[in-house]
Amino acid sequence: MLQSNLYPTADLRAADARHYLHPFTDHKALAEEGARVIVKGDGVWLWDSEGNKLLDGMSGLWCTNVGHGRPEIADAVHAQMGELAFYNSFFKTTNAPAVRLAERLAAIAPAHINKVFFTSSGSEANDTVLRMVRHYWALKGQPNRQIVIARHNAYHGSTMAGASLGGMKPMHAQGGLPIPGIVHIRQPYWFGEGHGMAHDAFGLQAAADLERMIRTLGPENVAAFIGEPIQGAGGVIIPPATYWPEIQRICRKYDILLAADEVICGFGRTGRWFGSDYFGIEPDLMTIAKGVTSGYLPLGGVMVSDKVADVLVNLGEEFYHGYTYSGHPTCAAAALANLDIIQREGLVERVANDIGPYLQGRWKTLADHPIVGETRMVGLIGALELVPDPKNISNRFTPTGAVGSIARDYAFQTGLVMRAVRDSLIIAPPLTLTHAEADELVRLARQTLDLTY
Ligand code: PLP
Repeated sequence: MLQSNLYPTADLRAADARHYLHPFTDHKALAEEGARVIVKGDGVWLWDSEGNKLLDGMSGLWCTNVGHGRPEIADAVHAQMGELAFYNSFFKTTNAPAVRLAERLAAIAPAHINKVFFTSSGSEANDTVLRMVRHYWALKGQPNRQIVIARHNAYHGSTMAGASLGGMKPMHAQGGLPIPGIVHIRQPYWFGEGHGMAHDAFGLQAAADLERMIRTLGPENVAAFIGEPIQGAGGVIIPPATYWPEIQRICRKYDILLAADEVICGFGRTGRWFGSDYFGIEPDLMTIAKGVTSGYLPLGGVMVSDKVADVLVNLGEEFYHGYTYSGHPTCAAAALANLDIIQREGLVERVANDIGPYLQGRWKTLADHPIVGETRMVGLIGALELVPDPKNISNRFTPTGAVGSIARDYAFQTGLVMRAVRDSLIIAPPLTLTHAEADELVRLARQTLDLTY
């Protein structure tokens, strides 16, 4: 019997409304509608407590790269818990799964990255970046290099530093953000802000904002630039090919550290191990989470290049930073089992050469729908821009972004989990998606568009 079936759905919903404060949720709307209770996952499929079957087009929350319900991960977690469920890595102690995971991550990362600092989440990883880059410059005798440059509409997490590095206006409006020492430049959002320019020219123009900002602030005050290779929560913003190489060139010119937030793009999502590989850049730091365990247990980290690690290790006084669960042995065991699956099943290559191109081709067919303004996808991460009137460029967006959430709700009704961002629908299905499941995903997406139109 499923654990959740021990409780009738109506009881769960009532208790949920009474006691559970959900993340990023309008609780009044939730109380009216009642929460959907998810009870089971298998591969790309989910079931709710009322027996509805849903295609999980979002991999949970960009997490379950190997799909739901993999017994190998459950077995590895069970075995590790039986031996050593938890111990910390503070005060000169370590544990085998964390060490083996660090070694494994170094092997799949670009050659210049060989160390990792573990956290429990992507937010903590980005907090760590903020402190680490400032500490790095202080150790190098340039303590004025404090400012981190990030981008509007970026998402780097929900902690004070994560939400400040992020560029989400509604988040900044609550709780007095951003914290000092963080500034934002424009995003490389061609569909929304490119005004018909050629993609490549627009990519260079968006990147030039970084150089302008560095000059305004004075390079001697800037510690780092941070960005997601593809902005996920911002709406799957895929930058033109010119963008990231130009950002890297500018960072190098002014000796500014480059941090890539790989929390979504990492672990095969783009058809390469990391989004940085896909765009051909070599960041000084990469943050990871989500796909590293496929979300089976919480684990994140900062992957640190030799250039930065050498300073932290050799010049370093102690870095007064860490989390109780940094290097949690059971979470590390889950990550190792997850990486075993990704490698054994060749999922990264599969996204590059098989299911990625297949779904991209099918996804493009949705462009003929009258409500679709643009389709885009890299690897298995994509978006549909919905437009009230695709022919009229000045009427690209509805004032409230309401079309996206209406379409998202229709998608649920048809049996497909997509996410709405403004007037767009986004997907990032498990990397195990079959061709038949890809066909079904696109069929359900078209049905959703028909209902929304
Ligand atoms: N960075 C990116 C790019 C993300 O998409 C997210 C979460 O969606 C985070 C950081 C924050 O990760 P977490 O929710 O694990 O703290």
